[in-house]
Amino acid sequence: TDPVVPIASAARRNDARHVLHPWSSHGALRPVVVAGADGAHFWDEDGRRWLDFSSQLVNTNVGHQHPKLIAAIKAQADKLCTVAPYHANEATSEAARLIAELAPGDLNRVFFTNGGAEAIENAIRMARLHTGRHKILAAYRSYHGATAGAIAATGDPRRWASEPGPPGIVRFWGPYPYRSAFHATDAAQECERALAHLADTIMAEGAQNVAAILLETVVGANGILVPPDGYLQGVRALCDAHGIAMIADEVMAGFGRCGEWFAVDRWNVVPDLITFAKGVNSGYVPLGGVIMSDAIAADFATRAYPGGLTYSGHPLACAAAVACIGIYKEEGLIDRARALGEDIVGPALQAMQARHPSVGDVRGLGLFWAIELVRDRDTHEPLVPFNASGGADAAMAEFAAACKRRGLWPFVAGNRLHIVPPLIVGEQDLREGLAIVDEALDIADRHSVG
Ligand code: PLP
Repeated sequence: TDPVVPIASAARRNDARHVLHPWSSHGALRPVVVAGADGAHFWDEDGRRWLDFSSQLVNTNVGHQHPKLIAAIKAQADKLCTVAPYHANEATSEAARLIAELAPGDLNRVFFTNGGAEAIENAIRMARLHTGRHKILAAYRSYHGATAGAIAATGDPRRWASEPGPPGIVRFWGPYPYRSAFHATDAAQECERALAHLADTIMAEGAQNVAAILLETVVGANGILVPPDGYLQGVRALCDAHGIAMIADEVMAGFGRCGEWFAVDRWNVVPDLITFAKGVNSGYVPLGGVIMSDAIAADFATRAYPGGLTYSGHPLACAAAVACIGIYKEEGLIDRARALGEDIVGPALQAMQARHPSVGDVRGLGLFWAIELVRDRDTHEPLVPFNASGGADAAMAEFAAACKRRGLWPFVAGNRLHIVPPLIVGEQDLREGLAIVDEALDIADRHSVG
């Protein structure tokens, strides 16, 4: 008789043969075939189930299959699925109104895109048109997306394969007290020195050439780097002093992730442009955009804005945004994220840091946290080298596998675990997920000199 061989599902077979996944080689990847999902959980074809501590790519803020969000998309599909972006329609205009209402200061007009990278492209274009200047100052340790301008602005190794990119991007170091580029010994010193470095960069580049400073309000994929108090205010002041536009990339940090509608609200800073995506509608239909100040919007009152997308303001995506914003409000999810971060996640991670020698640093706010794993707490030597791959990242892979085996889906980046569950995660689930992390850290500790 024939040996029993597992029969791959059509999904697995077709995926293996025909799909190229982002940032992956198709020869090596064996993706989980997701069969279903609900709230903070998803499961595969064999019924294995995970608590999602990644919110997929930090976007499913209201969790999976939220009934109100599904109903809104269905209702919009019945009414009007798509229109050209030169028409107006109820869903798009209502989404813009709600976003403008939530945005700080005089950021009152929205240009919609399909996602984060296109939002960055358009924010850069707007800043250049508004100032008549061309240079964009962008930070190391940042991710802004994978289209030409956005990847050029990106300050992590994902940029390297796309170099040389378009000209005009100038890089600077942002604050990161745990691995200070400025040899600072505390957060206040880090803040002061990072701002002095930024001021020097502007001077050396010629302020009259600088269109924008582009930065993630709280750096996401590169480590949940929460800026020290005063940093963003200092960036705003430098922008004001030199007529530079401040672009806050809130694609990951915005829409509740940080326990605020927009992360800049935490520091009462009003940028000239905010980019958003992900949490705006929890990713149920692709959507992103740029929110612009009245001064920038005024540029395009009589002069046509030289940019567009077939699907700008897509009705299905915008109806999902209207519903998602409604859910945030009805369920009090923004405040909930802040409270869960302060009351549960922060204290739990600090306790883990006290117990586990592999935990070098713990930081975050809202439901946006990272623990940084190290071989040596004294030297801060990371558990795996910078940009490790091909086996050099084995210690982190082992740690991630330990989480997955215990039913937790982790977000692992470099030598860090990011803890970014949906904002609807149940308290019990959150505590159980943190207990799994705690257990899995025993494995990381074996690689640490402790
Ligand atoms: N900006 C930030 C801060 C992001 O985290 C991301 C994606 O993770 C992007 C931009 C790019 O967004 P998208 O993948 O939707 O193009």
